[in-house]
Amino acid sequence: MPPTAGVIRRLDETVVNRIAAGEVIQRPANAIKEMIENCLDAKSTSIQVIVKEGGMKLIQIQDNGCGIRKEDMEIVCERFTTSKLQSFEDLSSISTYGFRGEALASISHVAHVTITTKTADGKCAYRATYADGKLKAPPKPCAGNQGTQISVEDLFYNVSTRRKALKSASEEHARIVEVVSRYAIHNSGISFSVKKQGETMADVRTLSNATTVDNIRTVFGNAVSRELIEVGCEDVKLAFKMKGYVTNANYSMKKCIFLLFINARLVESSALKKAIETVYAAYLPKNTHPFLYLSLEIAPQNVDVNVHPTKHEVHFLHEESIIERVQQHIESKLLGSNSSRMYFTQTLLPGASISASEVIKPSTSKTSGDKVYAHQMVRTDAREQKLDAFLQPLPKQQTDDVQESHKAAEEPRDDKANEECSATDALSDLEMLDASDLLSSVEESEMQTGNCEPSTSSDSVLPRKRPRAESDVEMENTEKDRTMTAASAPRRRVINLTSVLSLQKDIEDRAHKSRCNICISTIF
Ligand code: ADP
Ligand code: MG
Repeated sequence: MPPTAGVIRRLDETVVNRIAAGEVIQRPANAIKEMIENCLDAKSTSIQVIVKEGGMKLIQIQDNGCGIRKEDMEIVCERFTTSKLQSFEDLSSISTYGFRGEALASISHVAHVTITTKTADGKCAYRATYADGKLKAPPKPCAGNQGTQISVEDLFYNVSTRRKALKSASEEHARIVEVVSRYAIHNSGISFSVKKQGETMADVRTLSNATTVDNIRTVFGNAVSRELIEVGCEDVKLAFKMKGYVTNANYSMKKCIFLLFINARLVESSALKKAIETVYAAYLPKNTHPFLYLSLEIAPQNVDVNVHPTKHEVHFLHEESIIERVQQHIESKLLGSNSSRMYFTQTLLPGASISASEVIKPSTSKTSGDKVYAHQMVRTDAREQKLDAFLQPLPKQQTDDVQESHKAAEEPRDDKANEECSATDALSDLEMLDASDLLSSVEESEMQTGNCEPSTSSDSVLPRKRPRAESDVEMENTEKDRTMTAASAPRRRVINLTSVLSLQKDIEDRAHKSRCNICISTIF
Protein backbone atom coordinates (compact mmCIF):
# COMPACT_ATOMS: atom_id res chain seq x y z
CA MET A 1 0.00 0.00 0.00
CA PRO A 2 1.49 3.39 -0.98
CA PRO A 3 2.09 5.71 2.02
CA THR A 4 -0.61 8.32 2.49
CA ALA A 5 0.39 11.97 2.50
CA GLY A 6 0.12 13.76 5.86
CA VAL A 7 -2.18 16.69 6.27
CA ILE A 8 -0.35 20.02 6.53
CA ARG A 9 -1.76 22.19 9.28
CA ARG A 10 -0.80 25.61 10.50
CA LEU A 11 0.81 25.43 13.93
CA ASP A 12 -0.91 27.16 16.75
CA GLU A 13 0.69 30.55 17.45
CA THR A 14 1.57 29.73 21.04
CA VAL A 15 3.32 26.55 19.89
CA VAL A 16 5.34 28.56 17.34
CA ASN A 17 6.26 31.13 19.93
CA ARG A 18 7.21 28.55 22.49
CA ILE A 19 9.49 26.78 20.00
CA ALA A 20 11.07 30.09 19.02
CA ALA A 21 11.45 31.05 22.67
CA GLY A 22 13.31 27.82 23.31
CA GLU A 23 15.86 28.86 20.68
CA VAL A 24 16.50 32.31 22.12
CA ILE A 25 16.36 31.33 25.77
CA GLN A 26 18.19 28.09 26.28
CA ARG A 27 18.95 28.48 29.96
CA PRO A 28 18.65 31.07 32.75
CA ALA A 29 22.02 32.60 31.88
CA ASN A 30 20.74 33.42 28.34
CA ALA A 31 17.73 35.19 29.78
CA ILE A 32 19.97 37.20 32.07
CA LYS A 33 22.29 38.13 29.21
CA GLU A 34 19.36 39.43 27.17
CA MET A 35 18.01 41.40 30.10
CA ILE A 36 21.41 42.87 30.99
CA GLU A 37 21.72 44.01 27.38
CA ASN A 38 18.31 45.67 27.66
CA CYS A 39 19.48 47.49 30.82
CA LEU A 40 22.62 48.66 29.02
CA ASP A 41 20.55 49.81 26.02
CA ALA A 42 18.43 51.77 28.50
CA LYS A 43 21.62 53.61 29.63
CA SER A 44 21.60 52.25 33.15
CA THR A 45 24.54 52.85 35.48
CA SER A 46 23.52 50.28 38.07
CA ILE A 47 22.35 46.74 37.33
CA GLN A 48 21.43 44.37 40.14
CA VAL A 49 20.55 40.74 39.66
CA ILE A 50 18.93 38.45 42.24
CA VAL A 51 18.40 34.78 41.49
CA LYS A 52 16.83 31.81 43.19
CA GLU A 53 17.62 28.16 42.43
CA GLY A 54 20.01 28.96 39.65
CA GLY A 55 17.50 31.32 38.05
CA MET A 56 14.95 28.56 37.50
CA LYS A 57 12.68 29.74 40.31
CA LEU A 58 13.35 33.46 40.04
CA ILE A 59 15.45 35.97 38.14
CA GLN A 60 15.03 39.58 39.18
CA ILE A 61 16.92 42.31 37.45
CA GLN A 62 16.74 45.93 38.52
CA ASP A 63 18.24 48.88 36.65
CA ASN A 64 18.18 52.65 36.87
CA GLY A 65 17.82 53.27 33.13
CA CYS A 66 15.30 55.18 31.07
CA GLY A 67 12.32 52.99 31.97
CA ILE A 68 9.43 51.95 29.69
CA ARG A 69 6.59 54.33 28.83
CA LYS A 70 3.22 53.30 30.24
CA GLU A 71 1.70 53.34 26.72
CA ASP A 72 4.30 50.77 25.56
CA MET A 73 3.71 48.38 28.42
CA GLU A 74 0.92 46.67 26.56
CA ILE A 75 3.08 45.48 23.68
CA VAL A 76 6.52 45.31 25.27
CA CYS A 77 6.38 41.51 25.61
CA GLU A 78 4.96 40.81 22.17
CA ARG A 79 7.19 39.34 19.51
CA PHE A 80 9.01 41.79 17.26
CA THR A 81 8.19 44.90 19.26
CA THR A 82 11.22 47.08 19.81
CA SER A 83 12.21 50.67 20.37
CA LYS A 84 15.57 50.12 18.66
CA LEU A 85 15.24 49.06 15.03
CA GLN A 86 12.89 50.49 12.43
CA SER A 87 14.09 49.42 9.00
CA PHE A 88 16.15 46.45 7.84
CA GLU A 89 18.87 48.88 6.71
CA ASP A 90 19.27 50.07 10.31
CA LEU A 91 20.71 46.63 11.07
CA SER A 92 23.98 47.57 9.39
CA SER A 93 24.55 50.50 11.74
CA ILE A 94 22.90 49.19 14.86
CA SER A 95 24.62 50.36 18.03
CA THR A 96 22.27 48.83 20.57
CA TYR A 97 22.45 45.25 21.77
CA GLY A 98 18.82 44.52 21.00
CA PHE A 99 17.17 45.07 17.67
CA ARG A 100 14.46 42.56 16.98
CA GLY A 101 12.21 42.62 20.01
CA GLU A 102 12.39 38.93 20.69
CA ALA A 103 13.93 38.57 24.12
CA LEU A 104 11.14 39.69 26.42
CA ALA A 105 8.57 37.98 24.20
CA SER A 106 10.51 34.72 24.34
CA ILE A 107 10.93 34.90 28.08
CA SER A 108 7.25 35.61 28.59
CA HIS A 109 6.37 32.48 26.58
CA VAL A 110 8.34 30.22 28.90
CA ALA A 111 8.00 31.99 32.28
CA HIS A 112 5.82 34.34 34.33
CA VAL A 113 7.07 37.88 33.77
CA THR A 114 6.38 40.95 35.91
CA ILE A 115 7.63 44.38 34.89
CA THR A 116 7.75 47.37 37.23
CA THR A 117 9.00 50.50 35.52
CA LYS A 118 9.18 54.26 35.87
CA THR A 119 10.35 56.81 33.32
CA ALA A 120 11.99 60.10 34.28
CA ASP A 121 8.85 62.13 33.51
CA GLY A 122 6.36 59.52 34.74
CA LYS A 123 4.46 60.53 37.89
CA CYS A 124 4.73 57.06 39.37
CA ALA A 125 5.87 53.59 38.49
CA TYR A 126 3.64 50.99 36.83
CA ARG A 127 3.52 47.27 37.28
CA ALA A 128 2.18 44.65 34.90
CA THR A 129 2.35 40.86 34.55
CA TYR A 130 2.58 38.96 31.28
CA ALA A 131 1.90 35.47 29.97
CA ASP A 132 2.62 34.23 26.44
CA GLY A 133 3.58 37.73 25.34
CA LYS A 134 0.28 39.25 26.43
CA LEU A 135 -0.52 41.64 29.21
CA LYS A 136 -2.63 39.83 31.83
CA ALA A 137 -4.28 42.95 33.23
CA PRO A 138 -3.87 46.72 32.68
CA PRO A 139 -0.70 48.14 34.30
CA LYS A 140 -1.24 49.25 37.89
CA PRO A 141 0.32 52.41 39.31
CA CYS A 142 2.72 51.74 42.17
CA ALA A 143 5.71 53.17 43.98
CA GLY A 144 9.08 52.69 42.34
CA ASN A 145 12.40 54.27 41.48
CA GLN A 146 13.34 55.46 38.03
CA GLY A 147 14.29 52.48 35.92
CA THR A 148 12.98 49.01 35.34
CA GLN A 149 12.67 45.89 37.40
CA ILE A 150 11.86 42.66 35.59
CA SER A 151 11.02 39.46 37.49
CA VAL A 152 11.04 36.14 35.68
CA GLU A 153 9.52 33.31 37.68
CA ASP A 154 9.38 29.57 37.05
CA LEU A 155 11.44 29.53 33.88
CA PHE A 156 10.42 26.71 31.50
CA TYR A 157 7.40 25.87 33.66
CA ASN A 158 5.63 24.85 30.43
CA VAL A 159 8.60 23.17 28.65
CA SER A 160 9.35 20.11 30.73
CA THR A 161 12.00 18.75 28.35
CA ARG A 162 14.03 21.94 28.64
CA ARG A 163 13.63 21.98 32.39
CA LYS A 164 14.93 18.43 32.61
CA ALA A 165 17.85 19.17 30.30
CA LEU A 166 19.12 21.91 32.58
CA LYS A 167 22.03 21.19 34.84
CA SER A 168 21.85 21.51 38.61
CA ALA A 169 20.85 24.80 40.21
CA SER A 170 24.42 25.41 41.32
CA GLU A 171 25.77 24.89 37.80
CA GLU A 172 23.16 27.28 36.38
CA HIS A 173 23.97 29.78 39.11
CA ALA A 174 27.66 29.60 38.22
CA ARG A 175 26.82 30.37 34.59
CA ILE A 176 24.73 33.35 35.64
CA VAL A 177 27.55 34.71 37.78
CA GLU A 178 29.90 34.20 34.83
CA VAL A 179 27.72 36.20 32.44
CA VAL A 180 27.15 39.04 34.91
CA SER A 181 30.81 39.29 35.84
CA ARG A 182 31.94 39.33 32.21
CA TYR A 183 29.58 42.16 31.39
CA ALA A 184 30.77 43.91 34.54
CA ILE A 185 34.39 43.71 33.36
CA HIS A 186 33.53 45.01 29.93
CA ASN A 187 31.36 47.81 31.26
CA SER A 188 33.53 49.56 33.81
CA GLY A 189 31.72 52.69 34.92
CA ILE A 190 28.53 50.72 35.53
CA SER A 191 28.02 48.94 38.82
CA PHE A 192 26.87 45.34 38.71
CA SER A 193 25.88 42.90 41.40
CA VAL A 194 24.57 39.37 41.40
CA LYS A 195 23.44 37.43 44.43
CA LYS A 196 21.20 34.64 45.59
CA GLN A 197 17.85 35.66 46.95
CA GLY A 198 17.88 36.11 50.70
CA GLU A 199 21.66 36.36 50.94
CA THR A 200 23.39 39.52 52.03
CA MET A 201 26.70 38.83 50.34
CA ALA A 202 26.80 39.25 46.58
CA ASP A 203 28.60 36.67 44.46
CA VAL A 204 30.03 39.50 42.41
CA ARG A 205 29.78 43.21 43.02
CA THR A 206 31.55 45.89 41.04
CA LEU A 207 31.54 49.62 41.65
CA SER A 208 30.78 52.36 39.16
CA ASN A 209 34.13 54.07 39.77
CA ALA A 210 36.19 50.90 39.30
CA THR A 211 38.49 50.42 36.33
CA THR A 212 38.54 47.40 34.05
CA VAL A 213 41.56 46.01 35.91
CA ASP A 214 39.81 46.59 39.25
CA ASN A 215 36.88 44.59 37.95
CA ILE A 216 39.13 41.80 36.70
CA ARG A 217 40.68 41.74 40.19
CA THR A 218 37.24 41.62 41.81
CA VAL A 219 36.12 38.73 39.67
CA PHE A 220 39.28 36.70 39.03
CA GLY A 221 41.52 37.75 41.93
CA ASN A 222 44.86 39.37 42.45
CA ALA A 223 46.89 36.53 40.99
CA VAL A 224 45.47 37.33 37.55
CA SER A 225 45.20 41.09 37.83
CA ARG A 226 48.81 41.68 38.84
CA GLU A 227 50.12 39.86 35.76
CA LEU A 228 48.08 41.72 33.16
CA ILE A 229 49.50 43.39 30.09
CA GLU A 230 47.43 46.00 28.33
CA VAL A 231 46.99 45.26 24.64
CA GLY A 232 45.58 47.37 21.86
CA CYS A 233 45.91 47.69 18.12
CA GLU A 234 43.96 48.90 15.16
CA ASP A 235 43.93 48.60 11.41
CA VAL A 236 42.18 51.14 9.25
CA LYS A 237 42.16 48.91 6.18
CA LEU A 238 40.55 46.03 8.01
CA ALA A 239 38.31 48.54 9.83
CA PHE A 240 38.83 47.16 13.30
CA LYS A 241 40.18 48.15 16.70
CA MET A 242 41.15 45.85 19.50
CA LYS A 243 41.89 46.54 23.13
CA GLY A 244 42.03 44.50 26.28
CA TYR A 245 44.18 42.85 28.90
CA VAL A 246 45.99 39.55 28.72
CA THR A 247 48.17 37.79 31.28
CA ASN A 248 51.94 37.72 30.77
CA ALA A 249 54.25 34.72 30.69
CA ASN A 250 54.41 34.68 34.51
CA TYR A 251 50.84 33.54 34.79
CA SER A 252 49.23 30.33 33.68
CA MET A 253 46.27 28.20 34.66
CA LYS A 254 44.70 24.89 33.83
CA LYS A 255 41.84 26.28 31.77
CA CYS A 256 41.91 29.18 29.38
CA ILE A 257 39.65 32.06 30.37
CA PHE A 258 38.74 34.04 27.30
CA LEU A 259 36.40 37.00 27.55
CA LEU A 260 35.66 38.15 24.03
CA PHE A 261 33.47 41.07 23.18
CA ILE A 262 32.80 42.02 19.59
CA ASN A 263 31.11 45.38 19.31
CA ALA A 264 30.36 45.17 23.03
CA ARG A 265 28.57 41.85 22.66
CA LEU A 266 29.79 38.85 24.64
CA VAL A 267 30.58 36.24 22.00
CA GLU A 268 32.79 33.24 21.38
CA SER A 269 35.27 32.65 18.62
CA SER A 270 37.10 29.37 18.68
CA ALA A 271 39.27 30.47 15.74
CA LEU A 272 40.56 33.53 17.59
CA LYS A 273 41.03 31.58 20.79
CA LYS A 274 43.07 28.93 19.01
CA ALA A 275 45.21 31.52 17.27
CA ILE A 276 46.08 33.27 20.54
CA GLU A 277 46.66 30.03 22.41
CA THR A 278 49.30 29.00 19.86
CA VAL A 279 51.19 32.19 20.69
CA TYR A 280 51.11 31.40 24.40
CA ALA A 281 52.19 27.80 23.85
CA ALA A 282 55.75 29.03 23.36
CA TYR A 283 55.76 30.86 26.71
CA LEU A 284 53.66 28.88 29.16
CA PRO A 285 54.29 25.48 30.72
CA LYS A 286 52.71 22.61 28.83
CA ASN A 287 48.95 22.22 29.23
CA THR A 288 48.54 25.56 30.92
CA HIS A 289 46.67 28.55 29.56
CA PRO A 290 46.36 32.32 29.84
CA PHE A 291 43.61 34.70 30.89
CA LEU A 292 42.43 36.90 28.01
CA TYR A 293 40.01 39.77 27.86
CA LEU A 294 39.66 41.28 24.41
CA SER A 295 37.24 43.81 23.06
CA LEU A 296 37.03 44.10 19.29
CA GLU A 297 35.33 46.98 17.56
CA ILE A 298 34.58 46.07 13.97
CA ALA A 299 32.77 48.40 11.56
CA PRO A 300 29.09 47.46 12.06
CA GLN A 301 28.57 46.99 8.31
CA ASN A 302 31.24 44.24 8.38
CA VAL A 303 29.64 42.26 11.17
CA ASP A 304 26.68 39.98 10.89
CA VAL A 305 25.13 39.60 14.32
CA ASN A 306 22.02 38.01 12.97
CA VAL A 307 23.55 34.56 12.59
CA HIS A 308 22.10 32.84 15.60
CA PRO A 309 19.02 33.47 17.73
CA THR A 310 21.13 33.83 20.87
CA LYS A 311 23.43 36.28 19.00
CA HIS A 312 26.23 34.31 20.60
CA GLU A 313 27.94 33.74 17.31
CA VAL A 314 28.84 36.57 15.02
CA HIS A 315 30.47 36.54 11.62
CA PHE A 316 32.61 39.32 10.29
CA LEU A 317 34.42 40.25 7.13
CA HIS A 318 38.21 39.74 6.85
CA GLU A 319 37.99 37.31 9.77
CA GLU A 320 41.32 35.62 9.02
CA SER A 321 43.30 38.81 8.53
CA ILE A 322 41.90 40.35 11.70
CA ILE A 323 42.72 37.24 13.71
CA GLU A 324 46.26 37.29 12.33
CA ARG A 325 46.76 40.95 13.27
CA VAL A 326 45.51 40.33 16.81
CA GLN A 327 47.77 37.31 17.07
CA GLN A 328 50.82 39.28 15.94
CA HIS A 329 50.10 42.09 18.35
CA ILE A 330 49.76 39.78 21.34
CA GLU A 331 52.94 37.98 20.33
CA SER A 332 54.88 41.26 20.27
CA LYS A 333 53.49 42.28 23.67
CA LEU A 334 54.35 38.93 25.21
CA LEU A 335 57.85 39.09 23.83
CA GLY A 336 58.32 42.47 25.46
CA SER A 337 57.04 41.28 28.80
CA ASN A 338 59.12 38.12 28.81
CA SER A 339 62.46 39.78 29.56
CA SER A 340 61.85 39.42 33.28
CA ARG A 341 60.05 36.80 35.23
CA MET A 342 58.91 36.91 38.81
CA TYR A 343 59.18 33.96 41.11
CA PHE A 344 57.49 34.32 44.43
CA THR A 345 59.47 32.86 47.29
CA GLN A 346 58.74 32.86 50.93
CA THR A 347 61.29 34.41 53.26
CA LEU A 348 61.81 32.47 56.45
CA LEU A 349 60.46 34.10 59.54
CA PRO A 350 63.00 34.41 62.32
CA GLY A 351 62.59 31.64 64.83
CA ALA A 352 61.58 29.07 62.26
CA SER A 353 63.86 26.14 62.88
CA ILE A 354 65.13 24.97 59.56
CA SER A 355 68.46 23.42 58.87
CA ALA A 356 70.74 24.23 55.96
CA SER A 357 70.19 20.83 54.45
CA GLU A 358 66.45 21.38 54.45
CA VAL A 359 66.80 24.59 52.50
CA ILE A 360 69.15 23.27 49.90
CA LYS A 361 67.46 19.92 49.40
CA PRO A 362 64.76 20.18 46.76
CA SER A 363 61.53 18.83 48.13
CA THR A 364 60.75 15.56 46.45
CA SER A 365 57.71 14.31 48.28
CA LYS A 366 54.53 16.30 48.50
CA THR A 367 52.72 14.84 51.42
CA SER A 368 49.89 16.74 53.00
CA GLY A 369 52.05 17.15 56.11
CA ASP A 370 54.48 19.36 54.15
CA LYS A 371 51.81 21.84 53.29
CA VAL A 372 52.24 25.27 54.81
CA TYR A 373 48.88 26.83 55.37
CA ALA A 374 48.37 30.54 54.86
CA HIS A 375 47.67 31.15 58.52
CA GLN A 376 51.06 29.73 59.39
CA MET A 377 52.82 32.13 57.10
CA VAL A 378 51.18 35.30 58.30
CA ARG A 379 52.11 37.32 61.32
CA THR A 380 48.78 38.12 62.85
CA ASP A 381 49.81 39.73 66.10
CA ALA A 382 52.18 42.69 66.32
CA ARG A 383 53.42 41.47 69.71
CA GLU A 384 54.63 38.17 68.33
CA GLN A 385 57.18 39.68 66.05
CA LYS A 386 58.11 43.25 65.31
CA LEU A 387 59.66 44.60 62.20
CA ASP A 388 62.69 45.55 64.29
CA ALA A 389 63.70 41.91 64.33
CA PHE A 390 64.46 42.20 60.66
CA LEU A 391 66.61 45.28 61.19
CA GLN A 392 69.26 44.41 63.70
CA PRO A 393 70.87 47.52 65.13
CA LEU A 394 74.52 47.82 64.20
CA PRO A 395 76.95 48.72 66.95
CA LYS A 396 78.72 51.99 66.29
CA GLN A 397 82.14 50.47 65.69
CA GLN A 398 80.74 48.09 63.16
CA THR A 399 78.88 50.85 61.39
CA ASP A 400 82.18 52.66 61.02
CA ASP A 401 83.72 49.49 59.64
CA VAL A 402 80.95 49.27 57.12
CA GLN A 403 81.44 52.86 56.09
CA GLU A 404 85.15 52.33 55.73
CA SER A 405 84.68 49.25 53.67
CA HIS A 406 82.32 51.26 51.51
CA LYS A 407 84.97 53.91 50.96
CA ALA A 408 87.46 51.22 50.08
CA ALA A 409 84.99 49.73 47.67
CA GLU A 410 84.62 53.07 45.94
CA GLU A 411 88.34 53.47 45.45
CA PRO A 412 89.57 52.41 42.02
CA ARG A 413 90.68 48.83 41.88
CA ASP A 414 92.19 46.69 39.19
CA ASP A 415 89.81 44.84 36.91
CA LYS A 416 90.27 41.41 38.39
CA ALA A 417 89.53 42.60 41.89
CA ASN A 418 86.51 44.49 40.63
CA GLU A 419 85.15 41.37 39.10
CA GLU A 420 85.57 39.41 42.29
CA CYS A 421 84.03 42.08 44.48
CA SER A 422 80.94 42.26 42.35
CA ALA A 423 80.79 38.49 42.46
CA THR A 424 80.74 38.73 46.24
CA ASP A 425 77.91 41.26 46.14
CA ALA A 426 75.99 39.06 43.78
CA LEU A 427 76.35 36.28 46.26
CA SER A 428 74.65 38.28 48.96
CA ASP A 429 71.36 36.80 47.85
CA LEU A 430 72.73 33.33 48.11
CA GLU A 431 73.72 33.85 51.70
CA MET A 432 70.08 34.31 52.55
CA LEU A 433 69.68 30.70 51.55
CA ASP A 434 72.24 29.61 54.10
CA ALA A 435 74.78 28.66 51.50
CA SER A 436 77.61 28.77 54.01
CA ASP A 437 79.82 26.50 51.96
CA LEU A 438 79.64 28.86 49.06
CA LEU A 439 80.39 31.80 51.28
CA SER A 440 83.49 30.29 52.80
CA SER A 441 84.87 29.70 49.34
CA VAL A 442 84.08 33.30 48.43
CA GLU A 443 85.86 34.51 51.51
CA GLU A 444 88.85 32.41 50.61
CA SER A 445 88.97 33.91 47.17
CA GLU A 446 88.77 37.39 48.70
CA MET A 447 91.66 36.63 50.97
CA GLN A 448 93.72 35.55 48.04
CA THR A 449 93.24 38.77 46.12
CA GLY A 450 93.72 40.89 49.22
CA ASN A 451 92.07 43.79 47.45
CA CYS A 452 88.56 43.54 48.75
CA GLU A 453 87.56 44.46 52.24
CA PRO A 454 86.19 41.43 54.04
CA SER A 455 82.53 41.69 53.51
CA THR A 456 81.27 38.21 54.17
CA SER A 457 81.06 36.13 57.27
CA SER A 458 78.25 33.98 58.39
CA ASP A 459 77.48 33.32 62.10
CA SER A 460 80.70 31.79 63.29
CA VAL A 461 80.69 28.83 60.98
CA LEU A 462 83.23 30.27 58.60
CA PRO A 463 86.82 29.51 59.42
CA ARG A 464 88.87 32.72 59.68
CA LYS A 465 92.11 32.41 57.80
CA ARG A 466 93.58 35.88 57.95
CA PRO A 467 95.48 37.53 60.80
CA ARG A 468 93.18 38.75 63.51
CA ALA A 469 92.88 42.49 63.47
CA GLU A 470 91.55 44.56 66.37
CA SER A 471 88.36 45.36 64.61
CA ASP A 472 87.84 41.65 64.07
CA VAL A 473 87.94 40.95 67.77
CA GLU A 474 85.43 43.68 68.34
CA MET A 475 83.27 42.36 65.61
CA GLU A 476 83.29 38.92 67.20
CA ASN A 477 82.38 40.43 70.55
CA THR A 478 79.42 42.20 69.11
CA GLU A 479 78.44 38.98 67.45
CA LYS A 480 78.61 37.24 70.81
CA ASP A 481 76.41 39.96 72.30
CA ARG A 482 73.99 39.40 69.57
CA THR A 483 73.95 35.67 70.14
CA MET A 484 73.21 36.33 73.81
CA THR A 485 70.23 38.49 73.05
CA ALA A 486 69.24 36.18 70.25
CA ALA A 487 68.85 33.39 72.79
CA SER A 488 65.86 35.18 74.25
CA ALA A 489 64.67 36.64 70.98
CA PRO A 490 63.88 34.55 67.91
CA ARG A 491 67.10 33.30 66.29
CA ARG A 492 68.08 35.18 63.18
CA ARG A 493 71.01 34.64 60.91
CA VAL A 494 73.71 37.28 61.25
CA ILE A 495 74.69 38.69 57.92
CA ASN A 496 77.79 40.77 57.58
CA LEU A 497 77.81 41.38 53.87
CA THR A 498 78.61 45.01 53.21
CA SER A 499 75.76 45.40 50.81
CA VAL A 500 73.24 43.89 53.20
CA LEU A 501 74.54 45.80 56.22
CA SER A 502 74.40 49.13 54.49
CA LEU A 503 70.96 48.32 53.17
CA GLN A 504 69.80 47.41 56.66
CA LYS A 505 71.25 50.62 58.02
CA ASP A 506 69.57 52.59 55.33
CA ILE A 507 66.21 51.02 56.04
CA GLU A 508 66.68 51.48 59.75
CA ASP A 509 67.47 55.16 59.36
CA ARG A 510 64.43 55.74 57.28
CA ALA A 511 62.06 53.63 59.34
CA HIS A 512 59.18 55.35 61.03
CA LYS A 513 59.60 54.36 64.65
CA SER A 514 55.97 54.15 65.66
CA ARG A 515 55.00 52.30 62.52
CA CYS A 516 57.40 49.50 63.30
CA ASN A 517 54.80 48.27 65.77
CA ILE A 518 52.02 48.11 63.28
CA CYS A 519 50.85 44.60 62.57
CA ILE A 520 51.41 43.72 58.98
CA SER A 521 49.45 40.83 57.62
CA THR A 522 51.57 40.23 54.58
CA ILE A 523 53.03 36.89 53.68
CA PHE A 524 56.72 37.32 53.97
P1 ADP B 1 15.06 44.39 21.82
O1 ADP B 1 16.04 44.57 22.90
O2 ADP B 1 15.55 43.56 20.69
O3 ADP B 1 14.43 45.66 21.38
P2 ADP B 1 13.53 43.07 23.84
O4 ADP B 1 12.42 42.06 23.76
O5 ADP B 1 14.74 42.70 24.55
O6 ADP B 1 13.86 43.51 22.38
O7 ADP B 1 12.92 44.37 24.50
C1 ADP B 1 11.79 44.98 23.91
C2 ADP B 1 11.74 46.44 24.26
O8 ADP B 1 11.47 46.59 25.64
C3 ADP B 1 13.02 47.17 24.02
O9 ADP B 1 13.10 47.63 22.69
C4 ADP B 1 12.93 48.31 25.01
O10 ADP B 1 12.24 49.40 24.46
C5 ADP B 1 12.09 47.74 26.14
N1 ADP B 1 12.90 47.33 27.29
C6 ADP B 1 13.22 46.09 27.63
N2 ADP B 1 13.95 46.06 28.77
C7 ADP B 1 14.10 47.34 29.15
C8 ADP B 1 14.78 47.99 30.24
N3 ADP B 1 15.45 47.30 31.17
N4 ADP B 1 14.73 49.34 30.31
C9 ADP B 1 14.05 50.05 29.38
N5 ADP B 1 13.41 49.49 28.33
C10 ADP B 1 13.43 48.17 28.21
MG1 MG C 1 16.79 43.11 24.10
